[in-house]
Amino acid sequence: MKVIPPGATIGIMGGGQLGRMLGMAAAQLGYRIHVFAPESGPANDVASAFTQADYDDVPALMAFAAACDVVTYEFENVPLEPLRLIADTVPVRPGIKSLEIAQVRSAEKAFVRGLGGRTAPFALVETGADLPAALAETGVPAILKTLRMGYDGKGQARIMTPGEAEAAWEAVASQPSIAEGFVTFSHEFSILIARREDGAAAVYPAPWNEHRGGILHRSSVPAPPEIAAQADEATALAGKVAGALGHVGVLALEFFATADGPVFNEMAPRVHNSGHWTIEGSETSQFENHIRAICGLPLGSTALAGSCAEMENLIGEDAARWEELLAEPGAHLHLYGKHEARPGRKMGHVTRVGR
Ligand code: AMP
Repeated sequence: MKVIPPGATIGIMGGGQLGRMLGMAAAQLGYRIHVFAPESGPANDVASAFTQADYDDVPALMAFAAACDVVTYEFENVPLEPLRLIADTVPVRPGIKSLEIAQVRSAEKAFVRGLGGRTAPFALVETGADLPAALAETGVPAILKTLRMGYDGKGQARIMTPGEAEAAWEAVASQPSIAEGFVTFSHEFSILIARREDGAAAVYPAPWNEHRGGILHRSSVPAPPEIAAQADEATALAGKVAGALGHVGVLALEFFATADGPVFNEMAPRVHNSGHWTIEGSETSQFENHIRAICGLPLGSTALAGSCAEMENLIGEDAARWEELLAEPGAHLHLYGKHEARPGRKMGHVTRVGR
């Protein structure tokens, strides 16, 4: 496997906080960062080069590819066709297959099922006319989720009674969707795996993920026993998924802990919010291991750096608490440099590590 040594340039598609933290980890290892994004944002503040262009601007992408030794992404909803073009010029890691599957909810669920994973019952809803048959398959209550571009609970509508189906379809703006049966779960958790091209992989301890208003609020490790009992099965599945995708870099799989075992919900072919605790809470952060993986370097230990760790997201006005958080012994404050604290917007996070 060809090593991309420190000093090389890593291209990052996407300009958000994940790109910023990837950039900081890459800089620590001596790499240069070139960010490609349609708008200025948290990532290009820490980059040595920035291309501001749309994701389907092929000439801009080709120039970007020529300037980079490897290209990765922090945002998975980039159009595939332009990316296929640059993949002829520069290694794109993780590869196009990871994006292709993770961009479409039905595709990721079918892929994981094909590898033996459990999912909620789901059915495609391409037009409003498909709804009754889809709900007959999933049962009610159900959740309508847009096939593409959903995140942080956006593009979702709950159907608690059959009479709510029409309103839910309008709430997702009549976009192609899946209907998904409700899962009864005790906890939510995720598995983050870093994988190299040669198949070597490292898995983080599974965090318990608590949401508020559809947005991740806190991730903590070690997870409670209900999750710990299911983590091995979920980890084995994550390894199979990463291998079957030929994934290079960090891959995140989200699960529900249920009485029947782990139920896969969705995946992200990238570093993930539920892994931010690893910056101080693990011996090697998810960001550093992503950079190591895509550059063909040895992976670092994913062991807990203390007895326990947690990450709390700072959403909207939460970030105004920065002075109080700086004064808290042992708290590590991360702010993403976003100029406007809109409600629901991820502005930063704080990590706490138990010694
Ligand atoms: P998602 O965008 O798929 O991660 O969904 C956002 C949140 O909605 C999840 O973290 C769960 O708390 C909840 N949720 C999603 N799908 C289901 C389901 N099938 N059953 C119950 N709750 C769900």
